[in-house]
Amino acid sequence: MNDLSPPSLSRGCRDEPILKQRGQHEVFCGLTGIIWLHRKMQDAFFLVIGSRTCAHLLQSAAGVMIFAEPRFGTAILEETDLAGLADAQTELDRVATELLARRPDIKQLFLVGSCPSEVIKLDLARAAERLTEKHAPSVRVLNFSGSGIETTFTQGEDACLASMVPVLAKTDARQLMLVGALPDVVEEQAVSLLNQMGIDGVKVLPAPRADEDLGVGSGTVFALTQPFLGDTHAALERRGARHLSAPFPFGEEGTTAWLRAIADEFGIDAETFDRVTAAPRARARKAIAQASEALRDKSVFFFPDSQLEIPLARFLTRECGMNAIEVAAPFIHKGIVGPDLDMLAQGPTLAEGQDVDLQLERCRDARPDLTVCGLGLANPLEAEGLATKWAIELVFTPVHFYEQAGDLAGLFSRPMRRAEMLKLDPASSREINLGGAGAGPRGLPA
Ligand code: SF4
Repeated sequence: MNDLSPPSLSRGCRDEPILKQRGQHEVFCGLTGIIWLHRKMQDAFFLVIGSRTCAHLLQSAAGVMIFAEPRFGTAILEETDLAGLADAQTELDRVATELLARRPDIKQLFLVGSCPSEVIKLDLARAAERLTEKHAPSVRVLNFSGSGIETTFTQGEDACLASMVPVLAKTDARQLMLVGALPDVVEEQAVSLLNQMGIDGVKVLPAPRADEDLGVGSGTVFALTQPFLGDTHAALERRGARHLSAPFPFGEEGTTAWLRAIADEFGIDAETFDRVTAAPRARARKAIAQASEALRDKSVFFFPDSQLEIPLARFLTRECGMNAIEVAAPFIHKGIVGPDLDMLAQGPTLAEGQDVDLQLERCRDARPDLTVCGLGLANPLEAEGLATKWAIELVFTPVHFYEQAGDLAGLFSRPMRRAEMLKLDPASSREINLGGAGAGPRGLPA
């Protein structure tokens, strides 16, 4: 069995100084989260109150034309709304009421704020209350902001889940809640492992349907599956639930430590734990070993984007043999990523927030073998000969738990291999830039 005990604090990063710079930053807005959330919540509709830009972002982030009845849309604010010449609240009520009359399958309606709706200070909380009164009990109307000026793209999911917590039923039942929107197949793997240990009745937030029996209270313990859920974490604690602090379930080590935190809480003995996890752990180790060959002794530099940076740096350094030069995250919430920081060896610069020009200078000076960054930085850095990985792909791809651990390592090793191929055969770059041999799912670079 691997030694999962965190290194002593003198070796871990929890108390290391954090570089905090504020300046221009390169981020996607929180509306992006609607793309994966609408698939997860099957009776929800996300109505963005925004501009044509917001509508275009959603359309292009979805990557497809919508042929079936979509479960997200944009109520476009026109110039008259923005100039305060029309009553936007009345117009919003009309649009929402027409939508709900046409779509009786919608049981949860999320009014999603954007930069334009915030600029005109459209009170979506009041609108949600008013519409809930009108349409209850068949529809629950909630609101959150996906506005992107000061946020990162994963904050949309956090804001959405946090908006759901206050309306969850109260229960004092002893229960485990997994928090975070995972692909169904990944979620089923996690729940199955927990069931095999004897932990039953596992609840999941977000639930697939509004009428799911999901409550919260002092008997609830919750495990986050994503490190970007700070507001949801706080909202659950306000409802009396207790957080099970653990490294995040990326890679074999992270998954084992995450499962062990839950198993310890529920008094699962070591023999049962080992019996349930031994085979998938062995598969994960083997898959990581194969997929990480190209990563050994290579350097990695993280720009702040997805908020997955710290757990991923822990995985890449400890399980894939990489050296981290800089690990930057939009926010560092030690109550959430503290256990991952404990396991991340000292050495890399830890940074919170961003002044993108200064950070680009550090990256160019360091010439890392792999740079993990947002879409806006990837192409310019590739043009300078640096191999990059788009951070957003880590959220769109199943990467959690044992069976995906090899795929997670593979996501990082593919751009390294591609960079090696380009050094050998620069002519192939044209094909790759066109989304050819190097393209990953949905035209994303591999
Ligand atoms: S950044 Fe603001 S205006 Fe642009 S798409 Fe996002 S919410 Fe809309």
